[in-house]
Amino acid sequence: MAELASRQPKRKGVFSYQCKRCGATTQSPTLPGASECPNGGIHEWSKITQVGGTPYQCQKCGATIPSRTIPPPAGCPLGKYHLWKQIGGR
Ligand SMILES: [Zn+2]
Ligand SMILES: [Zn+2]
Repeated sequence: MAELASRQPKRKGVFSYQCKRCGATTQSPTLPGASECPNGGIHEWSKITQVGGTPYQCQKCGATIPSRTIPPPAGCPLGKYHLWKQIGGR
């Protein structure tokens, strides 16, 4: 019983990842598998931020991710920094 409890993960987190090559996004608790990238080779995933309930879209690369707060700007595939804008807000 005690052994089982110690195996539980500390917290469940789901994160958004974006491929630095093609700009595709995905949500996963761990680094997504390296599948084929339309821009050649395999996807090169980089973690953006923890998933939340507010959608943000980058005005440069068009990636849309659900986040609790505005995501960090670093790592836009179409330039140095993402230009996040909250979308679909009330
Ligand atoms: Zn890719
Ligand atoms: Zn971007």
